[in-house]
Amino acid sequence: MNLPQLVLQRGKDASVRRFHPWIFSGAVDRIIAPAEPADGDVVAVVDYRAAPIGLAHFQPHGSIVGRVFHFSEHPAETPDEAFWAEKFRAAWERRRRVGLVDNPHTTAFRLIHAEGDGLPGLIVDYYAGTAVLQAHSMGMYRARPLLARALAVALGPRYLTAVYDKSADTLGTAADPAAPNGYLVGEAPADPVVLENGHRFRIDWLTGQKTGFFLDQRDSRALVGHYARGRRVLNTFCYTGGFSVYALAGGATAVDSVDSSKTAMALTDVNVALNFPDAAATGRHRSFTADVFDFLRGPEVAADPYDLIILDPPAFAKSRAARVRAEAGYRRLNAEALRRIKPGGLLFTFSCSQVVDRELFTNTVRAAALEVGRPVRLLHYLSQPADHAPSFFHPEGEYLKGLVLEVE
Ligand code: SAH
Repeated sequence: MNLPQLVLQRGKDASVRRFHPWIFSGAVDRIIAPAEPADGDVVAVVDYRAAPIGLAHFQPHGSIVGRVFHFSEHPAETPDEAFWAEKFRAAWERRRRVGLVDNPHTTAFRLIHAEGDGLPGLIVDYYAGTAVLQAHSMGMYRARPLLARALAVALGPRYLTAVYDKSADTLGTAADPAAPNGYLVGEAPADPVVLENGHRFRIDWLTGQKTGFFLDQRDSRALVGHYARGRRVLNTFCYTGGFSVYALAGGATAVDSVDSSKTAMALTDVNVALNFPDAAATGRHRSFTADVFDFLRGPEVAADPYDLIILDPPAFAKSRAARVRAEAGYRRLNAEALRRIKPGGLLFTFSCSQVVDRELFTNTVRAAALEVGRPVRLLHYLSQPADHAPSFFHPEGEYLKGLVLEVE
């Protein structure tokens, strides 16, 4: 065994054996290695009797000291290209099983969802032949060249022509101030347009947020499309206009999109025009660069209330400490929308804050509805789609939750 060994205390192996991928510092008995492992080194995880449990990336700082990316028997050496290629092939087959590979209507999806795919610290989004990779741990960051080659091997040239690394945004400066974002395999496609449920979207992974597109709202967008017919729709925090395009396609009479970012509104305009070239000119789609809280209290809403409103804000809480303020933010936002929506209207409301769980979010929106004092019915619970599936043993991976409410 050439790898450093992370020896767990007696009894502290139970949660890892139940496929929970995080090893907390309190579970470690000792480390057997010639020298203290560095941030991102691969370590073998063993129980107190030295029986192998898996492989992990070591993290010397913080309460999580190891993130397991391979359970059970493992190679004695640092994983090679073939090892990662096998992981990617398995993830690709899982996407095939949920109907996303070779789907003529949808050519973009998440290929690697970190812990959900057994690869903590790694996100890979797939955009019609280009994989956009983001490392969120030093272990994955250091493995990027290997990971990129393994992706190319696993998917083959028929499915993959380029791998773009966007890790400078997530870890780059801490890890390696000189490493810019860039292509690790292939080069930029001429026109990066993908299909999602038959709708066209131009993806800008170079300058866009995250990997360029929020793939996690695909199923909820389809539900908005289902309910949009004959309704006047407001899409707030619209970013690239995903919900707006589906609402237009679903037969909304009019759609207004709002985001505080000018860049986001420009992307929304591009995507609306790709699908509905006349929508802007006819006024069926309107764009507003504005703060959502201001917009909801502004003249457009007062003059003609909406009958379907989408609230999809960025994570209000990134840490447990910020949770109380986040709750207040969700409550205020939802109250503003519930107060103004037309009788019989629908509210699609979301939270992507991992620390605000489904129960807390539901209770917060309920408090907002009580404050407003209108009868409200809960039509649907929404969550992340199958390509963002969490491991059942890692509930921390459930981050996106939504409610569809009917307001009288
Ligand atoms: N609904 C989008 C994703 C939303 S991401 C989709 O389906 O793709 C969150 C967006 O909220 C970002 O584009 C950000 O610019 C915007 N934003 C953040 N705070 C805002 C505010 N106070 N008012 C308006 N937009 C805001």
